Amino acid sequence: MSLIPQRTVAELKELRELTADENGAQRVAWTDVWQKARKWFATKLVGLPIEHHYDAAGNNWVTLRGASEKTLLIGGHLDSVPNGGWLDGSLNVLAGLEVLRRFATEFKGKPPVTIRLVDWADEEGARFGRSLLGSSAFAGTHSIAADRVRTDKDGITMEDALRRCGVHMDHFPEAEKERANAAAYIELHIEQGPVLEKLGLPLGVVLGTKGVERHAITFHGQEAHSGATPMKQRRDALAAAAKLALEIRNIAGKHSDAVCTMGSLKTFPGIVTAVVGRSEATLDQRDLDAKVLEQMYREAQEASERFSNEENCTVEWARIWSIEPIPFHPHMIELCEQAVREISENSHRLPSGPLHDAAEVSRAGIPTVMMFVQSLRGISHNKIEDTREEHLEMSVAALDRLATKTVDWILKAN
Ligand SMILES: [Zn+2]
Repeated sequence: MSLIPQRTVAELKELRELTADENGAQRVAWTDVWQKARKWFATKLVGLPIEHHYDAAGNNWVTLRGASEKTLLIGGHLDSVPNGGWLDGSLNVLAGLEVLRRFATEFKGKPPVTIRLVDWADEEGARFGRSLLGSSAFAGTHSIAADRVRTDKDGITMEDALRRCGVHMDHFPEAEKERANAAAYIELHIEQGPVLEKLGLPLGVVLGTKGVERHAITFHGQEAHSGATPMKQRRDALAAAAKLALEIRNIAGKHSDAVCTMGSLKTFPGIVTAVVGRSEATLDQRDLDAKVLEQMYREAQEASERFSNEENCTVEWARIWSIEPIPFHPHMIELCEQAVREISENSHRLPSGPLHDAAEVSRAGIPTVMMFVQSLRGISHNKIEDTREEHLEMSVAALDRLATKTVDWILKAN
């Protein structure tokens, strides 16, 4: 057969050459470099028996029509964060392209079902702080009114930046049309974490994306002179926050894949000679199980009350953002497991901490699964992001197996 995984690695290097500088990949969505990447991608389609178009939200679609209208979607994103890596998002797209080429060759331009490759617009949200933009529009979960007025660091609105790229936000809902006949969605991605490397495994099966509870927590105590206030009479708002920062490790530690992070802490007045009168912390909690997430949230609240009492302070919570866990399709998880085992013998199932476009597609009710390939050192969103070439090639082969299994499943189900 005609799958050439080495070609994917070569094309990834070509793309890096074209769109990275000494600080890493610069394919930020709605910029010239991103558009250059997409134009380059279009040159790779020449001669293939496909249709190519951009939808109303700027998603980039390649369609290989099959005998059935039922459609397998394969997704990724060519956009990157500033100073990003060479694999995040683009591996998915270029591996998907290789799979599509294989289907086109093997079935002489007409596979049993329709195969569509999508390069989602603005997965990263790097410029306007709105991640998963194109896939949200596709899924119909997008909130245009809230997003169009977002500005970048130069004060340019999202609406203007998108118009410059030929995308009109008023038309976003039309992107939902692309869901027609979608029977399944698969996405390959680098893990972006250290789990597979630690296990010595090239590939893993993703169970879903973790839900997130993100809160601002403020402790109120009493500002007081650091020299004049006896230790026993202090109402130290930092002490309460500090106790919580340690306790969240115990709260997360009861569950195998849960994570809790106190990512920022500010103290007021924040001077060397004053007991802290007010501390403002943030807490980010994630797990794939909604019950675990709920329990961790409750336990963190209870702990904050306890520490607040111990330090003679008060505490208030405000939700910054939350999203429910999005488990992937059970049967597609099985298919992914089979595909991984055919290529690498051993497999491992793991949840994804980061969100991905696959989460939006799954929320739209389309059976979805993701596959991870090992990330070296677990580093991503950085120019040192890397994966062994042999693992990249294995991931292309495994994605191809998954595509075949999914096509068979789509045919059987109808
Ligand atoms: Zn990505």
